[in-house]
Amino acid sequence: MPSKASLEFARQIQGHNAELVVYSRLVGTLVELAWPLRADGSRLPANELFNYLRQKNILLECNCGLQESNSTREPLSCVIRWDGLAGHPVLATCNESPSVCGMMLNITSIARTSRRTSQYLQLPDSVHNQLSDNNAAPPVLKYLHNFRRLNYQDTTVAPYFPGYFGEYSEFYGHRNRQIKGMYSMECYDYVRKQRAVPLKVLPRFSLTIFQSRTAY
Ligand SMILES: [Zn+2]
Repeated sequence: MPSKASLEFARQIQGHNAELVVYSRLVGTLVELAWPLRADGSRLPANELFNYLRQKNILLECNCGLQESNSTREPLSCVIRWDGLAGHPVLATCNESPSVCGMMLNITSIARTSRRTSQYLQLPDSVHNQLSDNNAAPPVLKYLHNFRRLNYQDTTVAPYFPGYFGEYSEFYGHRNRQIKGMYSMECYDYVRKQRAVPLKVLPRFSLTIFQSRTAY
């Protein structure tokens, strides 16, 4: 069973990668996914990711599946969170609150930095979230076959998984759908820490002014 250090490692890989990295129960590891493009070829904005996933009846998991006991259970959707404030990023966090796996993925950042993109033409839109004759399930076995043919080394931390963009909800029943939420305390902590970073590189003169004023 992966230790806390493994979950922290997963979080670091996600946080320092220009591409979208998530856990995939289909292959049992972290994988790299292409960022979705809209029908007109433009990049999907981060705040549209939740609707995109719902529309296609798919979900992205949090890292809890990396723990053996959870990998054999039904998928645990990550929570796509935003507080509606401009300047605050869309974040993806653990299914549980407070967080168990520590997932803190900056979706806004990924939407801008990812070099891999895809229109996911093989992922059908659902009609009123019901499976109908017109929308077949994604060709999961084909994804898996193609993935295995890529023959990644075991040492590859987050191999690229072409075609795959999360788990298909219909396979697991309706309660397993992508979920969203407002910012949690962990999200506000994350934003605060992100904002604290530029202070470390403030121009020297700013600090000098501050110091001279406080010298009185
Ligand atoms: Zn989790």
